This record gives sequence, C-alpha cells and structure tokens, in this order.
Amino acid sequence: MPWCESCDRHVDKGLLSSQGGCPSCGKQIGEPSKRPNTPWHFWVVAAGAALYLGWRAVELVVWIIQQLLQAAG
Ligand SMILES: [Zn+2]
Repeated sequence: MPWCESCDRHVDKGLLSSQGGCPSCGKQIGEPSKRPNTPWHFWVVAAGAALYLGWRAVELVVWIIQQLLQAAG
C-alpha cells in the first residue's frame, strides 16, 4: 500500500489516480497505470470480430465434413 508523506497516511492502491497520484494532495506516490483505458467501442468491435470469425470457423468445419462425406460416399 503506497504511503503519502504529504498527507502522512497510507493510500489504497485503488484510490490512486491513473498517474499514481494521491487522491487528497495529488502527489505521485505510486506507479503510473501502464494499462491504457480501453474505449468501450473497442470491445464492441472485438466481440463482433470474434462472433464473425467463430461463425466462419463453424462454416469451415461444416464444409470439411461435407467434403469428407462426399469422399466417403
Ligand atoms: Zn497525499
């Protein structure tokens, strides 16, 4: 738990600002957050791409099964 010398108290990590600053005085006492905030629309696009690729994978498997059945049949 980071210690703020200015406020003379421990500050919970979850309360730090994105730059690692103390919520009371703003003094940097922790690591700046390396993980950038991901915009919500990124996840919409990612979910759509995942659904699309998943569907294409299903289509591919069905196509392969059809080819195997034809070869066998
Ligand atoms: Zn402080």
